[in-house]
Amino acid sequence: MYSGKISEILKREHINIGDRILVEKVGKRYEGLLMPRIEYGNRNCTVIKLDNGYNVGVDCKGAKISKSRTKEPASVREEEEFELGRVKKGLVKVKFDKRKPRVSIITTGGTITSRVDYKTGGVTSLMSPEEMLYNIPELADFVSLKIENPFSIMSESMTHAHWQKLAKAVARELKHSEGVIVTHGTDTLHFTAAALSFMLKDLGKPVVLVGAQRSTDRGSSDGAINLICGARVALSDMASVGICMHGTMDDDYCIFTRGTKVRKMHTSRRDAFRPVNDLPLAKVWPDGRIEKMQTVPKRSSSVAKADTAFEEKVAIIKTYPGSSPSIIDHYAGMGYRGLVLEMTGLGQAPTYGKNSWLKSIEKATGKGVLVCGAAETLYGRLNPNVYSEGRLSMEAGVVHLEDMLPETAYVKLGWVLGHTKSVEKAKEMMLTNYAGEITKRSLQETFLA
Ligand code: ASP
Repeated sequence: MYSGKISEILKREHINIGDRILVEKVGKRYEGLLMPRIEYGNRNCTVIKLDNGYNVGVDCKGAKISKSRTKEPASVREEEEFELGRVKKGLVKVKFDKRKPRVSIITTGGTITSRVDYKTGGVTSLMSPEEMLYNIPELADFVSLKIENPFSIMSESMTHAHWQKLAKAVARELKHSEGVIVTHGTDTLHFTAAALSFMLKDLGKPVVLVGAQRSTDRGSSDGAINLICGARVALSDMASVGICMHGTMDDDYCIFTRGTKVRKMHTSRRDAFRPVNDLPLAKVWPDGRIEKMQTVPKRSSSVAKADTAFEEKVAIIKTYPGSSPSIIDHYAGMGYRGLVLEMTGLGQAPTYGKNSWLKSIEKATGKGVLVCGAAETLYGRLNPNVYSEGRLSMEAGVVHLEDMLPETAYVKLGWVLGHTKSVEKAKEMMLTNYAGEITKRSLQETFLA
């Protein structure tokens, strides 16, 4: 709690934690709910939750602190009460019983292993990844956990080298655990999920990727429930790589979704990860209930191997009105071996006038670059036969990838080209279903599921 000068002022002004306050400094004004100070925060700072939902630490040297006269929006108040409830519980170290089934957690960074830095108001990494577990004592009721931390990075900065390292770490952990949870930033969680889906061969156990849209120290954090449900999946009989995140905006259940058919579809909602052209594999409740929504390969004695060969000279390119095909010439000139075009509609690229992409595609494919097409619409299946423009792109050499997501196609292309030098073989592999990335039939109910 607050001490020294700040605590004196708070007492004098009859301000309690949770009250709405106003801090006025030269040229600055902060208004919001007074949060508890965290142990390792600056002693001269008050922590204020602003009306936009963000916590900031305000250095109060020379500032005037008073009770605010304005009312906060209702939604802020609601979240705050919940948050204060959790903060009061404090950080309690969780003890795990080694006799409980073992699950490995591999932490890699991202919001799920972050907290608000009360000096800057921004989110920053936890001191140690274990801190993530302090608010989730429930986990100790049903698992024992082993934590590994091969690297710590925000997911936007990941590269294929991180995927390779991670796949090897997962394969290692699977040898002596019932299942593996990977905690990861949400921004590119679906790329990593696709990479692990291709790189982990002969999988006989669950591999669950989990992130959080809110940092661990926020009452509205989704990390705890995602982790609890993730641990339920890790103990389940589903031998699949998938993402386990909130199924709805509430804290009721999570969805476990196939790693090649899932995507972050919202910047901030807790239920941002949705299956695309697929249903979730299962709904998972924190109490352990699991409702399968489709057939999932069963847990077996198969020992997973990390098959991580990857060609890094691959890229995604978006086609759009006015887009220049010179980007293809650029990549081909740089020695790229594979490109995924995000194509409009059923699989077209611009074919008109000086912005026609056909020549550049032909030139690249003529040089041995494998040019693939994925749907910019995300949902649905390509059918380049419908329009002449689609047919022309096919004739120029584009391999249209059915209902594969562009991000999955990009990861797969790197993995495929890492395994063969032959363009013909690579084409055949791109159209072969390895990890559920291509579905045979498009089902109505998978749209916006
Ligand atoms: N930028 C963060 C990341 O992807 C966001 C998050 O974790 O949600 O690592």
